[in-house]
Amino acid sequence: AYTAKPFVPDHGTLDDLRRAAAGCRGCPLHRPATQTVFGTGNTHARVMLVGEQPGDQEDRQGKPFVGPAGKLLDRALAEAGVDPADTYVTNAVKHFKFTQAEPRKRRIHKSPSLREMTACGPWLAAELALVEPELIVVLGATAGKALLGSSFRVGQVRGTVLEEEIHGRPERLVPTVHPSSVLRADDREQAYQGLVADLKVAARALG
Ligand code: SF4
Repeated sequence: AYTAKPFVPDHGTLDDLRRAAAGCRGCPLHRPATQTVFGTGNTHARVMLVGEQPGDQEDRQGKPFVGPAGKLLDRALAEAGVDPADTYVTNAVKHFKFTQAEPRKRRIHKSPSLREMTACGPWLAAELALVEPELIVVLGATAGKALLGSSFRVGQVRGTVLEEEIHGRPERLVPTVHPSSVLRADDREQAYQGLVADLKVAARALG
């Protein structure tokens, strides 16, 4: 089975993890992608935000949530009253998965499979163990499935505080939609307000 496990150091800092993740060959996604996109943010963050996987911009720049969806997320966090200094952002899968009709054509995002999410899980587990967030904000269905299992449905639990054991640790989680779904929505304003409302639940849960 594909797994990142042999590449994850037993101990060390987030920077050690990031350096090791740059060389991860735990599943085939590393081959077509430009680079590993590891999490960034405050080591002592109170909130960990978990998305699906890096997008085109993230893959090029090597940082999560720097593209259009990331900008929208920053705006929504500010509006909900979550301090960016209190956050650590990462993805369930650390390499960009895409299809491309021809070289030099636009790279189209493809959702990672359960196998790839499982393979990449040890990185997320290691990030959680080091950051020890008070709350996890789950951004969208893929992140939800990676953390809470394949029966996760974002529409059923968004904007609520869940308590679950994640990678052996008791965690509080607030699920919401992925910010890229707001960009695709027919009614963007309504979708955006929905995201902000869910993030406000997270802000209140932090107290
Ligand atoms: Fe490793 Fe995850 Fe990249 Fe697969 S997607 S190669 S498990 S870092």
